[in-house]
Amino acid sequence: MKTRLLLTCLAAFAVTLSGCDKVKRLLPSRSKTVEARQTQETEETAPAAAPRTAAAPAATPEPAPTPEPAPPAPVINQNAGVIVLCYHRFEKHPDSLAITPEEFERHLQALKDNDITVIGMQDFLAWRRGEKDIPAKSCIITIDDGYVSGYDVAWPILKKFGYPFTMFVYIDYVGVGGKSISWEQLAEMRDAGVDIQSHTYSHPDLRGKARKNAEAVRKMGGYEPWLRKEIAESKAVIERQLGVRVNAVAYPYGFHNQEVESMVLNSGYEAGFTVYGQRNGFNHPAATAIGRYAIDSKKPEIFQAALRAVQSGSTSVAPAVSHVATSSLETQPKQGETISDPKPLIKANLSSMGAIEPDSVEMRISGFGLVPAQYDPTTHEVSFQVTNQPLRDKNYTVIVSARVGGRKAEARWAFQFDPAAGAR
Ligand SMILES: [Zn+2]
Repeated sequence: MKTRLLLTCLAAFAVTLSGCDKVKRLLPSRSKTVEARQTQETEETAPAAAPRTAAAPAATPEPAPTPEPAPPAPVINQNAGVIVLCYHRFEKHPDSLAITPEEFERHLQALKDNDITVIGMQDFLAWRRGEKDIPAKSCIITIDDGYVSGYDVAWPILKKFGYPFTMFVYIDYVGVGGKSISWEQLAEMRDAGVDIQSHTYSHPDLRGKARKNAEAVRKMGGYEPWLRKEIAESKAVIERQLGVRVNAVAYPYGFHNQEVESMVLNSGYEAGFTVYGQRNGFNHPAATAIGRYAIDSKKPEIFQAALRAVQSGSTSVAPAVSHVATSSLETQPKQGETISDPKPLIKANLSSMGAIEPDSVEMRISGFGLVPAQYDPTTHEVSFQVTNQPLRDKNYTVIVSARVGGRKAEARWAFQFDPAAGAR
């Protein structure tokens, strides 16, 4: 009897697990719809059963014995790539979240000089829906938090270039004075065509585990209602205040989990933005994890990496990324380890990845973004010494990527930080 019960439990557990997996895969299912829609369009616009060799115009009309479904019409360029830049403040004295107006202008000029087209976020989302085309090398400019310098410093510069952009604001910070932007200023921007989207209600780590959020989560009656306020209610407030449609959210610090992604989709958003810098494609990554490069004046290499990412291009619809199992990596800290040192050396031995192209190695850390890690081709070790920005959060994820034989390989692991851990 006991064995049988155990087996039933195990079976139920397995179902739950595969269920989760299914949900995950369902998230970017929109791309399937797009494909379906495209096939439909093809059927409507192109003559039925176009021969497979349709590349040559006016191909010899050889009657195909079994007409195959027509390939998707080239209405949109599915190989286009989009980088998203994330800025915060625009000030005379730069810091990690503030860029000088001069440097901001240099960035905008660099985009132009590199033939990168700045598009609006709504154009990007329409492209991902298969509704419109975008230039092969595109860039979206986003400004987070709702600082007034977005209005009085960045906006005039963006106007000079004629670039569209998106403001990601969080409700609790709008109209509180000081450096914050007001609803009136946002309305003025809206009237001029600036896209205004949600950066949550109170700018917390949406995973809800941070100690400083414990009280708010408890007050709201648990994680889910708390998350609903941050995600769904922030959208509703902006829509009410400005009479706009909000369909994108930027996760504070880039942090998100599966509950966050589900809440985002269930609340009517089309996209969620992280601070994981990458080239975004037609159906990669998932709509709930669109990557952004968080610009940092102290780390000019981040902007350069963004430029490179969109220049590199890609011929495949979804960039082929092979994921290297965490278990095959030797890392420090170890997977799942809890450390107490706020300034640890973070490293991994990438031998298991194969013949790595040394210049292609990149390390990203949640809460940090792209970090200036060192890679030693002789030892196959990539390392990064945490220095001026010590660890503060409880959970960290490290993502290491590299090109191996022209293909991108990625590995990730997680560790915890607890300053009191050593004392035990
Ligand atoms: Zn923010």
